[in-house]
Amino acid sequence: MEGLSRRRLVGLTAALPLLGQVSWAASAPDTDAPGAAQLPVRLNFNESPWGPSASARAAMHEGIAGCGRYPYPLQYALIDTFARQHAVPEDNVQVFCGSKLALQYAVHAFTGARSLVVPEPSYEAPVDTAQTRDTTVHAVALDARHAHDVDAMLAVRPAPGMIYVCNPNNPTGTVTPAAALERLIAKAPSDTVVVVDEAYIHFSDAPSCIPLVKAHANLLVLRTFSKLYGMAGARVGLAIGQPALLEALEAFDGYNVAAEPSLRGALASLQCTGLVAQRKQDNQRLRDATVNRLTAAGWRCTASQANCFMVDVRQPADAVVKALAEAQVKVGRVWSSWPTWIRVSVGDAAQMQHFEAALFQVLGQAE
Ligand code: PLP
Repeated sequence: MEGLSRRRLVGLTAALPLLGQVSWAASAPDTDAPGAAQLPVRLNFNESPWGPSASARAAMHEGIAGCGRYPYPLQYALIDTFARQHAVPEDNVQVFCGSKLALQYAVHAFTGARSLVVPEPSYEAPVDTAQTRDTTVHAVALDARHAHDVDAMLAVRPAPGMIYVCNPNNPTGTVTPAAALERLIAKAPSDTVVVVDEAYIHFSDAPSCIPLVKAHANLLVLRTFSKLYGMAGARVGLAIGQPALLEALEAFDGYNVAAEPSLRGALASLQCTGLVAQRKQDNQRLRDATVNRLTAAGWRCTASQANCFMVDVRQPADAVVKALAEAQVKVGRVWSSWPTWIRVSVGDAAQMQHFEAALFQVLGQAE
């Protein structure tokens, strides 16, 4: 694709038959459908129990026929649509095969000789990447409310190459107040890149950091279609930042874009009115119902605003994860800094019911 610039490709997108807005209500599944959960119950990877929306599935089918050609026009249609919806210039948005890839590229691009600062516990991908190249990692514990300890992150010296923020945070699902994040972004040295991972933002009431990109050349925001949009297996993520930062990531990417069905599914998801609101509401209702029952039974849970939460099982969590797996319920991995907590992804009603029954049995407690 040498010589094929983004600018030149943007012109091509005008010729694309853009899908019209599709209403979520017309194709919503029954999220409280009774019946047995399919076994094993998979609450281990923060995936959506509902998968791609109906309109995304239809668009993905349409994309199969286009697989004989490189999907750049669709890539730019997705960029244009997202940029328009978020009122940012199109050259502030880039598509990757999943946001994890953009995050790994960021670690490669912005750390190395300089260190990486991360919250703890949090999504491990940046630390795993840093460890492949002996980068110094400063892990800063979440504060008492399970928010990022912004002042401790800012205090790291010498100034790091990159500060990773996860909001809402995986695995806790907790949100860091907007004022604290704004302070972090405003006070970080101009040559320290702040990466704000918003993989779970759709489930929460937290404001996005995307509007701050305009004023901060060192801010990179990441989004994914893997979580609320239910497209984890389709591998589409976005990075939002000023062009110089995106170019630093693209140096590692080599025009490696997602396949046309994935891009069409992502585009249809952005164009499905009501999808985010409906899934946010369903997730919240199902999550809070389980959290409330566990809390009423005396178990402490994190105050999640995401599609996962943690439960303090007050014993080695590894053993509880194993016992749940034997009961056909897969829950998330255990973070060594929180050795008595399990992470549970939010599933549908039948799955949550199955999980609760299994957990109470494992913990030796009647429901
Ligand atoms: N960021 C966070 C915080 C995640 O929890 C995950 C996946 O679990 C990802 C990024 C990866 O998302 P993607 O599927 O877009 O690579």
